[in-house]
Amino acid sequence: MESSAAPTVSAGHDAGPAPVDLLRRLRARGAGDPVTHVERVPARVGVPAPWPAWAPPELRAAFARRGVVAPWQHQAEAATLAYDGGHVIVATGTASGKSLAYQLPALATLLADPRATVLYLAPTKALAADQLRAVAGLELEGVRPACYDGDTPRAEREWIRRHSRFVLTNPDMLHHGILPGHAQWSGFLRRLAYVVIDECHTYRGVFGSHVAHVLRRLRRQCARFGATPVFVLASATSGDPATAAGRLTGLPVTAVTEDASPRGGVTFALWEPPLLPPDSTAPAVPAQAAGDHDATTDLVQVRRSALRETADLLADTVAEGVRTLAFVRSRKGAEVVAANARRALDDAVPGLGGRVAAYRGGYLREERRELERALLHGDLLGLASTNALELGVDLVGLDAVLICGYPGTRASLWQQAGRAGRSGQEALAVLVARDDPLDTYLVHHPEAIFGAPVEATVLDPANPYVLAPQLACAAVEAPLTPADLALFGDGAKEAIDQLVEAGALRQRPTGWYWRHRERPEVDLRGEGGAPVCVVESATGRLLGTVDGGSSHFLLHPGAVYLHQGISYVVDDLDLADGCALVHVEEPDWSTHARDVTDLSVVSVRSYVDAGPVGMFLGEVDVTSQVVSYQRRRIATGEVIDTRPLDLPTRELRTVAVWFTLSPRSLASAGVQQADVPGALHAAEHAAIGLLPLMATCDRWDIGGLSTALHPDTEAPTVFVYDGHPGGAGFAERAYGTASAWLRATRDAIAECGCETGCPSCVQSPKCGNGNNPLSKPDAIRVLDVVLENLPA
Ligand SMILES: [Zn+2]
Ligand SMILES: [Zn+2]
Repeated sequence: MESSAAPTVSAGHDAGPAPVDLLRRLRARGAGDPVTHVERVPARVGVPAPWPAWAPPELRAAFARRGVVAPWQHQAEAATLAYDGGHVIVATGTASGKSLAYQLPALATLLADPRATVLYLAPTKALAADQLRAVAGLELEGVRPACYDGDTPRAEREWIRRHSRFVLTNPDMLHHGILPGHAQWSGFLRRLAYVVIDECHTYRGVFGSHVAHVLRRLRRQCARFGATPVFVLASATSGDPATAAGRLTGLPVTAVTEDASPRGGVTFALWEPPLLPPDSTAPAVPAQAAGDHDATTDLVQVRRSALRETADLLADTVAEGVRTLAFVRSRKGAEVVAANARRALDDAVPGLGGRVAAYRGGYLREERRELERALLHGDLLGLASTNALELGVDLVGLDAVLICGYPGTRASLWQQAGRAGRSGQEALAVLVARDDPLDTYLVHHPEAIFGAPVEATVLDPANPYVLAPQLACAAVEAPLTPADLALFGDGAKEAIDQLVEAGALRQRPTGWYWRHRERPEVDLRGEGGAPVCVVESATGRLLGTVDGGSSHFLLHPGAVYLHQGISYVVDDLDLADGCALVHVEEPDWSTHARDVTDLSVVSVRSYVDAGPVGMFLGEVDVTSQVVSYQRRRIATGEVIDTRPLDLPTRELRTVAVWFTLSPRSLASAGVQQADVPGALHAAEHAAIGLLPLMATCDRWDIGGLSTALHPDTEAPTVFVYDGHPGGAGFAERAYGTASAWLRATRDAIAECGCETGCPSCVQSPKCGNGNNPLSKPDAIRVLDVVLENLPA
């Protein structure tokens, strides 16, 4: 949620120590200097603009009551483009007031035309609820804004459909509720003047591709009723936003990217946790907390973990009275950082730990709102959060932001860092590197962060696994006609033919008709099924939810599950009911799930024949199963035992990039026969770790497999695949940038100071084989052979 008021009033609490002094104190606490780079991001002066002449006086007065005396330049520019009928995306930084850019033209139109309507889409219900408060707070007559989502009582729904002129909802409700019920919505859709798509950068990957087609279905229904609404999109800073918005909506979109809002300066430090002494048995934060899928590393930790380091930094800043937000990538990680910071603070000053909490998307709405309130009022000083906070929360007055681990993209990094200094004060941002090849590469190559443009948002509406089910949904809403082929884009005809062949559609002279009685079941967020509810058996209390894809890893029977720092143990995972039963228990071990993976090549789309080396892009079938878990002592990391699990296999047809090498070329590069598996395995891990540098994904979006002899390629092979059905464009991008990608991979391994491989280079936190075997020097030889032969 963006603050839409232009000249915001600062929160007015006492500013903590100056960021430079704070950073000096933080880095002086341990032995050695963990800071590898400090970048000063200068403050920016705001550029106000006059109200557009078309903005009616009563609307200006309403904004003035909320403290907006004039828009900023970018708000006025985007608003006028939209008011003149152009599709527009405003892509500017956190807290730059993007909502004014769409509220202004939309509300001016509602005031001028008493029949017009506006549809607002947010990626989450929480964000829509915040936006509703903002619009309702303007108290404009006849607008009657209302949220329409899964929580809306049945009794209110009809009133909203008939009387609200500013309906706030989410893509899921549009897909499941509004479009299937278009007949009931015909009055609203017929008069639709604007479609607002907030936080549209979240529509990426497979989810984004689904939303792209939901929007095409919306445009199709509007066209049937004679409406052609204007699309106004708001996005975080992203590369080439006009193209991404065009892909999302299927329309030509103009981008406004020049941010004219004022910003406080930020001191941005890159922080690499120190190496632990080689003989150290010092207990670190258990490695499993570092990833959503429970790390399975059988290794001695060589660097202090980023979680431990972030927890200490959080405790230190809170102790200084600095309002601090720590972004942690995994849910478990956020819980662990909060718990450790609380413990450290309580050790110093009993009771002080109570001013730190954890926050993540899976919490229930009341819990989240309570935490937000506490941080805004200063009852809380420190919050450890997953990036759930990027959405739906309007936090101001943060003095410091700690980012535990590179969040995957430069766009997310800036989005998170943008939480600091937003009320015009100087602030501190710290990126704490994880023991990971990409993080290590970045803290030693700051030009890759501060000198590079942010990535473009990637989505692929032509993904056949998205297109076919979306066309099925469209056909239920109204028969498909040849005119629809252009609307749904590349691959639409092939997908329709397949649906006909499968008996789902019937072709008649007037179009293609849905043949079944019931609607197709299509999940927009198809990340492996519906979320699994976590329920406390003794009380029946719903603790939260975990997405279906992660549930096998996090909620298998016997798993230790953390919620708000409280430890639970899973008694039962009922996949049919989508529910896990847990009880409170704090054992002195952590649990680490392991899976096995099998892969077969379905087809080759494209390849490069480079003598002894082959580079391929194609479709593969991946089968994986969580088969066991280890219990490890929290204090020492010692493995207690490995227990089998009985969970179903999961299958994935997806897109992979792979390379093969001839055994002879490996031998002449000095890789012994026995070391080939370890060499390929190490190269695979590092290549996965570095792919996010090229492909706007993170390592949890992709998987890999390496083998000294694969039956389908009949050669030593390394596969890297998209972790989403049908692919999400990541492997494709890796194939397109193969030599640059593998060059960075080779350099990251070669530049790492360790001797035999560590998590900063070739070890992987999600390896299904416990990081065994791995050969660091031979991985460099493998990549040298590839790079020598592959054309640049
Ligand atoms: Zn290393
Ligand atoms: Zn592995």
